[in-house]
Amino acid sequence: MRLPAIKVYRAFRAFDHMPDGDCERYVRRVRANAGAAHAVGPLVAAFVIALAWFIGWPFAATVLPLSRYIPLPDSAEMQFILLVATGALAVGVGSLIIRDGLMYEALRRELARTDCRKCGQSLLGVPISRIGVDPDPAKSFIKCPECGRKFCLLDIGLAPHDLVPLEQRHLPKDLATIRRRVGA
Ligand SMILES: [Zn+2]
Repeated sequence: MRLPAIKVYRAFRAFDHMPDGDCERYVRRVRANAGAAHAVGPLVAAFVIALAWFIGWPFAATVLPLSRYIPLPDSAEMQFILLVATGALAVGVGSLIIRDGLMYEALRRELARTDCRKCGQSLLGVPISRIGVDPDPAKSFIKCPECGRKFCLLDIGLAPHDLVPLEQRHLPKDLATIRRRVGA
């Protein structure tokens, strides 16, 4: 695993050849499908951290000689300002870490959907063989180029468009013009 600098999706090699705009569109789609946990998780984290911080530190200060271990200001007002400032920082950073952690996990799961169920090789871009001309997932099959295992798309919950390589999924910016020109 590579550590993402700022953008979570840059932790995955699958996005290496995609510009930020396309990655962010992909991330937005994954987030929209990820369910309530992604929206609620960072808020819950913020609430729990705030609770722990603003109750934990004042409590610790009553039972421990904190000023012996931490350089604290002498006045109660300054100690209160320090508590609020560090608490806000902890809440902000903590909820961002939870948000990015949830997004990392959602992206990992989404990318793993198109991996071979037997050996883990990516099946993106692997040609699909069909029985008949219908693009029916029940009659569409794919063979892992690594281990040779054959899968029916319906059985592994994939549609043909799921297997299009990520870098080929973006739409040209002038799609509306192209459509008008060809009369589509
Ligand atoms: Zn395989």
